[in-house]
Amino acid sequence: MSAPDHAALGLTQDQSDILLAVREFVEGEVIPNAARYDAADEFPEAIVAGLRELGIFGFTIPERYGGMGLDLTTYCLAIEELSRGWMSVSGIVNTHFIVSSMLLESGTEEQRERLLPLMATGEVRGAFSMTEPHCGSDVQALRSTATRVGDCWSISGQKMWVTNGLRSGVVATLVKTDPAAQPAHTGMTTFLVEKTPGAPREGGLTIPPQLHKLGYKGVETTELVFDGHVVPHTAILGGDDGLGRGFQQMMSGVEVGRANVAARGVGVARRAYELALRYAHERETFGKPLHRHQAIQFKLAEMATKIEAARLLTVQAARAKDAGRRADVETGMAKLFASESCKEVVEDAFRIHGGYGYSTEYEIERLYRDAPMLLIGEGTSEIQKTIIARGLISRYKG
Ligand SMILES: Cc1cc2nc3c(=O)[nH]c(=O)nc-3n(C[C@H](O)[C@H](O)[C@H](O)COP(=O)(O)OP(=O)(O)OC[C@H]3O[C@@H](n4cnc5c(N)ncnc54)[C@H](O)[C@@H]3O)c2cc1C
Repeated sequence: MSAPDHAALGLTQDQSDILLAVREFVEGEVIPNAARYDAADEFPEAIVAGLRELGIFGFTIPERYGGMGLDLTTYCLAIEELSRGWMSVSGIVNTHFIVSSMLLESGTEEQRERLLPLMATGEVRGAFSMTEPHCGSDVQALRSTATRVGDCWSISGQKMWVTNGLRSGVVATLVKTDPAAQPAHTGMTTFLVEKTPGAPREGGLTIPPQLHKLGYKGVETTELVFDGHVVPHTAILGGDDGLGRGFQQMMSGVEVGRANVAARGVGVARRAYELALRYAHERETFGKPLHRHQAIQFKLAEMATKIEAARLLTVQAARAKDAGRRADVETGMAKLFASESCKEVVEDAFRIHGGYGYSTEYEIERLYRDAPMLLIGEGTSEIQKTIIARGLISRYKG
């Protein structure tokens, strides 16, 4: 157990083949190199080149734009595989996937035709930026603005915690175009800010050195400082219709992002479980291997059960989206349960390793630093509970 049973999940042969190819890549290229990249906090260029060859940046982009046109379910199971190898790899893909989803859902045909083929190959990678230094959960409190100047807009303000902030070529950036609007979200707009990947300064946009983090190394997380950065009117996601619709567009983007974070939780937990099971066979105490102590068996049983349950919630959420249904409750539940379970499973695996779990020589140490990030990104657990409760109440018919 712990690896997904493709037949039991009802996957097609094609889906299964794709996922096995991703697993093979993870075994060959990601797991053997993750510790080195993590220790140096180094961007994994070679792994990203491999991801491009596998077509992962275009997984969910339709074939007419050069992608593979896969569904969210297959994508999430692929993200589980990648995260099992190293969570940061899925972080490089995640914001890209969110931006391509937003383009598909809300972009103009001109925006899609120009950007999606470049995104499908990974030549241009996407980032998204809502959070600011003073606000994350309370998105409507953001202060950055865009002011119309002729055929262009001038963006000013400071953005925080932008994953892939430096190396991305397009950043979906949420700002206020009408700061006085009430409710505030009606005055918010998403701009597709295109930039040269890797350039720390361009026009009125400065990208300070990356933020230093507990884990989730290798993938850069940066601030973006806009000081009168000029973008064309055509940079508004969705064109004229997108003016004042940025909040909804972003919320829709993070909704699929939540299924993605849930899948990451399953992948990290699965790796932690595998490491714990292996260690429980290698280590002996009181004359027998750890796995023959009932207390350890109970831990392993709980860990595997949580992983299976988290995966089922994730697949259920992804399938609801694939079927075109509203899935705020489903993605919220999957994200909440998978991220909290992941933290618990990783901690149990850490405990099973005893003192060695605290050593940087053991992989579980990295997982222990990576897992907490899942409790925060795409909305904290408290925010997920708020979304789930709101959705349940709105669906209640009395
Ligand atoms: C490594 C990393 C990468 C990230 N990448 C991105 C990115 O690419 N793009 C982006 O836009 N953002 C990104 N973020 C930001 C992330 O989405 C926010 O950190 C997150 O939404 C929480 O916001 P906050 O940090 O401002 O916490 P706050 O909103 O200040 O919340 C602090 C605490 O209060 C709780 N809380 C807040 N409001 C309520 C409430 N109403 N009821 C109950 N509890 C509440 C929260 O759950 C949390 O425990 C990233 C963050 C990290 C750490």
